[in-house]
Amino acid sequence: MTKEEMIKEIERLKKEKNAIILAHYYQNGEIQDIADYLGDSYNLSVIAKNSDAKIIVFCGVLFMGETAKILSPEKKVLMPHKYLPCYMANLINAKALKKYKEENPDRVIISYVNTYADVKALSDCTVTSSNALKILEHYKDKKILYCPDKNLGNYASKEYGYDIDLWDGCCQIHDRLTVDDVKKAKSEHPNALFCVHPEAPYELTQMADYAGSTKGIIEYCTKSDKDEFIIGTEMGILHELEKRNPNKKFYLLSKGLLCKSMKLISLEDVYKCLLNEEYEVTIDKDTMDKARVALDKMLELSK
Ligand code: SF4
Repeated sequence: MTKEEMIKEIERLKKEKNAIILAHYYQNGEIQDIADYLGDSYNLSVIAKNSDAKIIVFCGVLFMGETAKILSPEKKVLMPHKYLPCYMANLINAKALKKYKEENPDRVIISYVNTYADVKALSDCTVTSSNALKILEHYKDKKILYCPDKNLGNYASKEYGYDIDLWDGCCQIHDRLTVDDVKKAKSEHPNALFCVHPEAPYELTQMADYAGSTKGIIEYCTKSDKDEFIIGTEMGILHELEKRNPNKKFYLLSKGLLCKSMKLISLEDVYKCLLNEEYEVTIDKDTMDKARVALDKMLELSK
C-alpha cells in the first residue's frame, strides 16, 4: 500500500468505526498531519472526553492514553503501540509514593499529568505545564509534594516561595539542556527570542523570553511580531510552528531534543491500530475512579 492509499484507508476506517485520531505535538509530522486534533496531553484528553466518537486513537505515550481513558471510561481508547514509556512517568511509582505519603501525611500531593494512573490515584490534584502555577497558587498555604518533575516544581518554589518538596524526577531530554546551549544559540542567532519548556532546569527559564507549555510556546511565537525564535522543547513542535508561521524561523536549542518514544508511531501503526482495534488501554475501575478525582480537581481549579 502506498502512503496515499494508507491515508485513504485510515480515513475510511475512521468513518466506518466512528473513531477520531488525537496526536501530541511531539509526534512525527506525518502523524500530526492525519490527526483530527493536535494538542498537548491534557487538552487532547478533554477533547476525547467531549467527543461523540466511540473510538479514540491516541498517538502519544502510555500515560496520555491512560488519561484519555480515565476521563472517558465508556469509550474505547486505542494506542498504536502497546507500551510507549515516558522517561519522566517511569521515575515514580505507586509503591514509592504510598511510602512517601505515610512518612509525610501533612503534604498535599500534586502530580504532573505525566504519571501513570496508579500514581494519579494517590494524588490530591494533577497539573499540566499550562496550569501548574495557577493550581499551585491555590495550595500556596499548604505543604506540597510536587511530583515527579523536579524542574517544574523548583520553578514554582523559587518564583513564588511555596513550600514544595520535590520528587527526584525529570524529563531526560529537557533536563539535559544547559546554560551553555542557550549562550551558544543566542550568539548564533542574536535576533531570536528564546522560548523554553519549564521541564528544563530553572536557570534556563531565567534566560528565556517565554517559559511555558508546548501549546503556550506555539501561541507565543505565532502572536509575536518577531520572526526568529530559539526553541527549547521537543523537536516535534517545529512541525506545527512552521506550519502556522511559514515566514518565521525556528532554531532548535539542542539536537538532543528528541523524545524517542514519541517518534515510534508510524502511519502503518495507526492503520493497523484502527483495523485491528488494538492496543486497547485498560485500567481497573477502582484506580480509574480515584485517578479521575485528581484530574477533576485540576479541571475545577484551572477554570
Ligand atoms: S518529552 Fe519527556 S516528558 Fe514528554 S513524553 Fe518524552 S520523556 Fe516524557
